[in-house]
Amino acid sequence: MMTLTINLMCLFILFCLICLFMLFCFYGYIKEKKEWNNGICPHCGSKWICFDVDSRGGRMYKCETRKHYVDISYPVDNKDTI
Ligand SMILES: [Zn+2]
Repeated sequence: MMTLTINLMCLFILFCLICLFMLFCFYGYIKEKKEWNNGICPHCGSKWICFDVDSRGGRMYKCETRKHYVDISYPVDNKDTI
């Protein structure tokens, strides 16, 4: 009986962790999509220009005014523009 309770607790904790992880990924995706803004800098309205790609495949963009930077790791940037 005791082990069953412990197993259920473990399962519940694991479930919570998976949910948290998914929420975290979803939040990151939404945040990047908003920042990417279909290839237009949301701060000044100029185009994002790719200037670097890191070893993990993350893309670094700067806008035409060079005042704003964005680091994209989710596939939000390979449609519509560029
Ligand atoms: Zn900008």
